Amino acid sequence: MNITIIGTSNVGLVTGACFSKMGNKVYCVDIIEEKIENLKNNILPIFEPQLDGIVEISQERGDLIFTTDIKEALDNTDIIFITVGTPMADDGSANLDYVFDAARDIANNITHDSLVVVKSTVPVGTCFEVKEEIESILNENDSDVKIRIASNPEFLKEGSAVNDCLHPDRIVIGAEEDEVFEIMRDLYSSFVLNHERFIFMDIKSSEMTKYVANAMLATKISFMNEISNICEATGANIQNVRIGIGSDKRIGYDFIYAGCGYGGSCLPKDVQALINTAKCNGYEPKIISNVEIVNEKQKMKLAEKIVKRFGDNLTGLTFAVWGLSFKPYTNDVREATSLVVIPELIKKGAKIKAYDSHAVQEFMNALDDIYLDSIEFADNRYDAVDGCDALILITEWKEFRSPDFDLLSEKLNQKIIFDGRNIYDRKIENKGFELYQIGC
Ligand code: NAD
Repeated sequence: MNITIIGTSNVGLVTGACFSKMGNKVYCVDIIEEKIENLKNNILPIFEPQLDGIVEISQERGDLIFTTDIKEALDNTDIIFITVGTPMADDGSANLDYVFDAARDIANNITHDSLVVVKSTVPVGTCFEVKEEIESILNENDSDVKIRIASNPEFLKEGSAVNDCLHPDRIVIGAEEDEVFEIMRDLYSSFVLNHERFIFMDIKSSEMTKYVANAMLATKISFMNEISNICEATGANIQNVRIGIGSDKRIGYDFIYAGCGYGGSCLPKDVQALINTAKCNGYEPKIISNVEIVNEKQKMKLAEKIVKRFGDNLTGLTFAVWGLSFKPYTNDVREATSLVVIPELIKKGAKIKAYDSHAVQEFMNALDDIYLDSIEFADNRYDAVDGCDALILITEWKEFRSPDFDLLSEKLNQKIIFDGRNIYDRKIENKGFELYQIGC
């Protein structure tokens, strides 16, 4: 099949690359010229395991074309995916400017009947509005082109996006016509040869499904973080409690880890957008409104523990930070806990030595310049701890899981670890480490 992808980033680039890997011809369009030029030279704007190899091979084969020319793309394709960003607006709603810009770009350049698929995460009703916008411009332009619309929310996880895309748990399709379901089934059938994973439904339910999935995940995390705070207050251990409850099949072990808060480009904004949708439709949500509040407080947890240990004035102290991205295996720092903890410590007088294998540049771009003078970026995890008064683990990249604790003892001024993801065993206390964790 011939496919246009509008918006070439985490979702668009990965989806486009995976469609092309399956032998489809894919045009990936973006408005940022530098990004497209780099991609033509196999320089990727994001770090995502396995992605570079697929992009290089598919480009070589001629199945993956990067362009800023939407007309060239639309002329050669019949299925158009919208994968542009839907960031949070000031009032918490989803900012749909990019989605409607894409819709207008389609309307002004399309010359034959096509299927438009909205993959961006959008509030209920947006797909219909996108269709209306395109049709009204086509009418103004006296065009007889017909478009059909589908919703196909994306569930990939940054850090394992290629694997998730190639081996999806489910493919949710919202549409109004059987023919559209069939086109989408044909398109995705090569991804699900093993067994049927399609879930077909109406468009509004499909749009809502994406928000509810993210709200449920965020709720699980905030729930466990709240319980971890109760554990700390009472002397119980969240790690034991987690295993105790996860063994109940109705609860399960997934996504019930306590930690120092969730971040990323999706969970925070999608929870806010769902709250906004509920309010705009006359419903005052109780649970999800508090999910975000708990998460914001949880991001402060490490800083609070550090102040409790060292006092409110951190002048003269240097802290090593391991991990800056919002989760491992991505260079994405959007809403990352590092962006909350590090400024908080610097405001109290501390200096920081930070290490992350992939996210340093993104972190520097996202952080307010006033903090940068107080941060040194190390080339590796052990240089980062050299001469520091404590180690703070924020993101659980695998290289941090089993460090050489003897080397850490030598390098750290004080053998103190603040483990924001509960990855270390209390046994290290036998080696003289003071270990602070979440909820235990
Ligand atoms: P992003 O903001 O990182 O990237 C969007 C891209 O679209 C940018 O490269 C931008 O330049 C481009 N763009 C904007 N307007 C354009 C236009 N008119 N024409 C061509 N390109 C245009 O977004 P993302 O993280 O890839 O997410 C995209 C959507 O998918 C969002 O709605 C998001 O909520 C959803 N989603 C994201 C993830 C994730 O892990 N990042 C997972 C599932 C769903």
